Amino acid sequence: PVPVVAVVGRPNVGKSTLVNRIIGRRQAVVEDVPGVTRDRVPYDAQWNGRRFTVVDTGGWEPDARDRAAAIANQAEIAVQTADVVVFVVDVTVGATDVDEAAVKMLRRSHKPVILVANKADNQNLELEAVSLWSLGLGEPHTISALHGRGSGDLLDDILKAL
Ligand code: GDP
Ligand code: MG
Repeated sequence: PVPVVAVVGRPNVGKSTLVNRIIGRRQAVVEDVPGVTRDRVPYDAQWNGRRFTVVDTGGWEPDARDRAAAIANQAEIAVQTADVVVFVVDVTVGATDVDEAAVKMLRRSHKPVILVANKADNQNLELEAVSLWSLGLGEPHTISALHGRGSGDLLDDILKAL
C-alpha cells in the first residue's frame, strides 16, 4: 500500500499551500479566509521516486463548536489513518494555545510527527522558529511553503519517517 502523510494544523497556517508545494501543482485550495478545506482531501505525490499520498485537512480548532468541531474531527481521523503526520505552525504567530492542544491530540495518536514552522520567508523568521522547540516535538523544520524555501529538506525528512 502507498504510505499516507497527513497535513494538520490551525486554519491559515499554510497547510494547503504546503500540500500544493509537495504535489507540485496548485490543486489544493488556498484561501486567505480560514476554514476552506472542510474535509480530508488526498493527493498523489512523489519524491525521489517514492510514491505516497498526502492528505490536506481543514484547520484544527478544538474549542470551536459545530462546523469547526466537525473539521477538527476530520483532522483527527486524518491523523489516525496516517503513517506520518506533518504538523504545521505559523512561525510569524508562534505557538498558540490551540497549537498546544493539537500537540496533545498528536501525542495520544502515537504517530510520528514532523513539526513544520511555515511562513519562514526570510532568515529572521527562520530564527524565530527556535521558540517552537517548546512544543516538545523536536526540531522545527523551517520552510516557506509559498516560496519553496526548505521544502526539499522537509520532503527528505518525511520520506525518512515513512
Ligand atoms: P491553510 O488554511 O492552513 O490551508 O492555509 P492556506 O494554505 O490556505 O494559506 C493561508 C494563507 O497563508 C494564504 O494567504 C497563503 O498564501 C499564506 N501562506 C501560506 N504559506 C505561506 C508562506 O510560506 N509564507 C507566507 N508569507 N504566506 C503563506
Ligand atoms: Mg487549507
